[in-house]
Amino acid sequence: ILEVKNLAKAFAANKVLHHVNFEVKQGEIVGLLGPNGSGKSTLLNIISGFVGPDAGEIRLVGRSIAGMPTYRLVQEGMARTFQLPIMPQKMSVLEVAMAAATDAHGVFSTLFRTARDRAAERRALERARHLLDELLLTRVAHLPASAISGGQKKLLGIVCALMAEPRLLMLDEPTAGVHPNVRNDIVQALHRLNASGVTLVIVEHDMHFIRDACSRCIVLDQGEIVASCRPDELASNARVVQAYLGASVEV
Ligand code: ATP
Ligand code: MG
Repeated sequence: ILEVKNLAKAFAANKVLHHVNFEVKQGEIVGLLGPNGSGKSTLLNIISGFVGPDAGEIRLVGRSIAGMPTYRLVQEGMARTFQLPIMPQKMSVLEVAMAAATDAHGVFSTLFRTARDRAAERRALERARHLLDELLLTRVAHLPASAISGGQKKLLGIVCALMAEPRLLMLDEPTAGVHPNVRNDIVQALHRLNASGVTLVIVEHDMHFIRDACSRCIVLDQGEIVASCRPDELASNARVVQAYLGASVEV
């Protein structure tokens, strides 16, 4: 569903990604791992159109998407969450989820004016309520989105991404700062999504989560992919062990 070829990106003299090549097949749950600063978020930012690459090619279901604006990518079936979600000041949690649906359809202030749009609004409202419930946010649905906790903002980020009904969902550290009990709810919600046909790419540091959630792992180290293997093969992969021990270790 996703092909990344020879992707490269530098910020001034800082070469963040080089010769990044990988594929994600329809139906996979891929964990994207690597030390802090290895380029994971940058890779998601480039794939999702928030940052332009210096070189390389990205294909979604066989179509080149490099340079496509983010709202078009959402319409093509791609959604993502952010490592540090920022919520608007004056909208409730439910309104933020609803706004994500309107973004997804490429309509902004004029949404929901005609009778047909009112039917779309009802469906979006139903979906928002269902997703808020699934991600344990029903109790805070009417609070200002800026006033909920950091972990709850992460969950709301997932709700927003799902409002667009994506076929490829990329999550940037969905469980960082989230209570361990809620992690299991997230794992289960992601498995249900995957069973309904959504392909997932998950940036994570938590190895338990990786083992529970992912069918395959891609490991980045200093902007290069050093491994692609099953979660249970990570510990015996020399390049992964080296990446996690750090560059100061002589092998
Ligand atoms: P973490 O696990 O800490 O989230 P990461 O693997 O997601 O790390 P990135 O956020 O992709 O790492 O950052 C990789 C490198 O790119 C870092 O050296 C960072 O300083 C640099 N970088 C990322 N975004 C920018 C930017 N907009 N401008 C300049 N440098 C950037
Ligand atoms: Mg990151």
